Amino acid sequence: MKRRQIIKTGAISTATAALTAACAKANTTSQANITSEANTTSQTTGSLPRVKWRMTTSWPKTLGTFRGAETIANRVKEMTAGRFTITPFAGGEIVPGLQVLDAVQAGTVQCGHTASYYYIGKNSALAFATTVPFGLNGQQQNTWLYYGGGLEAIRKIYADFNIINFPGGNTGTQMGGWFKKEIKSVADLKGLKMRIPGLGGEVMSSLGLNVQVLPGAEIYLALDRGTIDAAEWVGPYDDEKLGLHQAAQFYYYPGWWEPGATLDVLVNLDAWNKLPQEYQAIFKTAAFEANMNMFNEYDFLNSQALSRLLANGTKLTAYSPEIMQAAQKAALEILAEKANENPSFKQIYEQWQKFKNQISNWNRVNELTYNNFSMSK
Ligand code: CA
Repeated sequence: MKRRQIIKTGAISTATAALTAACAKANTTSQANITSEANTTSQTTGSLPRVKWRMTTSWPKTLGTFRGAETIANRVKEMTAGRFTITPFAGGEIVPGLQVLDAVQAGTVQCGHTASYYYIGKNSALAFATTVPFGLNGQQQNTWLYYGGGLEAIRKIYADFNIINFPGGNTGTQMGGWFKKEIKSVADLKGLKMRIPGLGGEVMSSLGLNVQVLPGAEIYLALDRGTIDAAEWVGPYDDEKLGLHQAAQFYYYPGWWEPGATLDVLVNLDAWNKLPQEYQAIFKTAAFEANMNMFNEYDFLNSQALSRLLANGTKLTAYSPEIMQAAQKAALEILAEKANENPSFKQIYEQWQKFKNQISNWNRVNELTYNNFSMSK
């Protein structure tokens, strides 16, 4: 408490000094310049500096994904008594939703909240940071990232972009998307236009769909106007917020291409290295909390939203075994293809496969056996 008071006093006197200096310079320096400098640089007050960061995101502000960014910002602010503040922006406010990596790499912003698989065009191995078709569920993904060598492997890739990444949210197993008409077989999928990103999009493409990647905010209009015939986003809560149930009736499950999607907070390495160790530790803790919190929050909100959607006429439909099997076969071929093309993909894929086999052997015994018994009607 005593230390805090001293810091506070220090902050006031430094702020007063800064204000006096600013007033003295007012004749020669514009107030706008002073304000902009204060917004972008660290200003030493007491023992720890005031730091203001901007966080661009891929998300509209109404969605659960955006709350991952907010959790990090709120917790960092609380844990530093307001000295380190991060302002999250919706996709499109600073840069378009799918250009977060670019903006963080360029230093346009200090950090960003996004899904790494939006950037598989830059390095296909980034897919593993988020999720891959028929890959790990949310719990397994966290275990892989934090204990199974996953995070270390992904960080090696991000280092090439002058970025350090932190898992900052997990959606759990997603839904399989909205279709305007019923899909019973692989033949029914052919020629449909669908919004689906990542390797899941490549699998759908190999099954004959025309695949598009649109940011969240643009999906509803495209589906409603019939520019696309199908779209996937996350799950009942977010999908309902986007209004997708008003544009299509058939809601498919499971989201086999995103069994445990992790979102990442990306930090420019120059900005990261300038942070005091205390702030780095706090940021890391806040990201961990956001990762865990989103996982639990979505599970809760999705269960409620699904009931609402069903009461309002949504037709919940399972993908047929034929489609699931064809998709899994295509997914395995695509993963093997990527491994042949890209050495960093191959390295992660081989390590990841070993982890997946081992954790599956354990989870078949504990989780699967229990869930099958306990949750079957
Ligand atoms: Ca998705």
